[in-house]
Amino acid sequence: MTTTQRPRVPIKPGYFTIPDDPQQPPKLLGTKCNDFSEHYFPRRAICARPECLSENTADVELGPRGTLYSYTFVHLPLFGSSNMEHAEGYGVGQVDLPEGPRVQLPLAGKQGEFKIGQTLEAELNTLREDGASDIVIVRFRPLEG
Ligand SMILES: [Zn+2]
Repeated sequence: MTTTQRPRVPIKPGYFTIPDDPQQPPKLLGTKCNDFSEHYFPRRAICARPECLSENTADVELGPRGTLYSYTFVHLPLFGSSNMEHAEGYGVGQVDLPEGPRVQLPLAGKQGEFKIGQTLEAELNTLREDGASDIVIVRFRPLEG
């Protein structure tokens, strides 16, 4: 992975961190219900459990690793991307985070690299350039071995 000095800007604020150190993986921005210790992604102000609905929630960081529960491969260019790597299509995975939530996010890698149950790690990926900045998305890449 090449490192860049260009500022990285999230495609949408409030969903993932952008570490100062480009070697560090991003984390997902989630919510924890303090009454039942449940975690949610994306963030929410009120617990989603109907019997709870607590507002006693806290912002937490989730990941950066998870387990691939299911995936599909989309044979279309990733919308809004000028990154040539996205032109052939991309994987979309349902990833179980160790904290509990199952999240659906793009995958990094080729179709044959994905296996149910494998460990993945979040990474930032440039979608396109915007002036001096790189617009980035978060996606999950299979870990080696
Ligand atoms: Zn709750």
